Amino acid sequence: MRAMVLRKPGPIESNPLELVEIPPPKPKGHEVLIRVTACGVCHTDLHITEGDIELPRLPIIPGHQIVGRVEAVGEAAWTIPVGERVGLPWLYHVCGECGPCLADQENLCDHGQFTGLHVHGGYAEYVLAHEDYVYPIPKGYGDAEATSLLCGGVIGFRALQLCSPKPNERIGMVGFGNSAQVTVQIARAMGCRVYVFTRSKAHRRLATELGAEWVGGIENDPGVLLDKAIIFAPAGPLVPLSLRLLRKGGTLALAGITMSQIPAMPYSLLYGERVVRSVANSTRDDIKKLLFYAGDLPLKLRVTTFALELANEALRRMKHSELEGGAALVM
Ligand SMILES: [Zn+2]
Ligand SMILES: [Zn+2]
Repeated sequence: MRAMVLRKPGPIESNPLELVEIPPPKPKGHEVLIRVTACGVCHTDLHITEGDIELPRLPIIPGHQIVGRVEAVGEAAWTIPVGERVGLPWLYHVCGECGPCLADQENLCDHGQFTGLHVHGGYAEYVLAHEDYVYPIPKGYGDAEATSLLCGGVIGFRALQLCSPKPNERIGMVGFGNSAQVTVQIARAMGCRVYVFTRSKAHRRLATELGAEWVGGIENDPGVLLDKAIIFAPAGPLVPLSLRLLRKGGTLALAGITMSQIPAMPYSLLYGERVVRSVANSTRDDIKKLLFYAGDLPLKLRVTTFALELANEALRRMKHSELEGGAALVM
């Protein structure tokens, strides 16, 4: 099979991913072999490729927003039929025995394995997965489109869930990339009123099209206090600016995987039982619920596609914010 392999991390401009031809893996036990048709490209892949995060193994094939068809199954796997279209996200496997797993927080598993980090991912024609960690993709979405649900989509969905949204509540969304674009549509479907804060004129237009009631910059005053807010951009200075928008008892969720330093701020911004919480990974239940919503709603998903061998270029364009919506490699 063809795969884009990372042997040595480096700046994406130096093309650290190499196209190789290797034998496809064989499924054993509870594993399924997926013939990959599309794999999303994510900022985490860029961090892996450039070596910004510690890599537990090298060489590694990145990619954790995988859509494809089950081609073969291990001798003990029986829950997913051969031929089924499935998705494989970031959460590859959890131990089921550690404190977080037993507390129903498998996204925080002490021994969690992540796709494209601990095990080979989807920048390849085939990938292995455990049968309990793949999900049927609802009809009505193309393979490349559906990849954007499996990381950005589900992180935004989890951030929204952590805000316990109720109908008619005002939800702020700060930053309007792929993740926020999915989340605004789900929040609207839940009956929430959405306020979007973004600098880009094109994003403001898109936010309005997707159902936002108010759009503006973070320096603008929407004229009402928000019940909840989610920050999608990895910029610490947005934390005090967003807290300023929240009512007493409101929640601010941080959906970025990384974030620059949060500046010192007066306690009055937090006082009044406002809650700030981060979002880390997602559970199997989050993915199942998101895919259920996606099956019910016609979510509008925007994805730019690239051939597998152009993975370095896709990541480079993502790094320089030259992509609208999501990006995916197609095989
Ligand atoms: Zn991701
Ligand atoms: Zn665990």
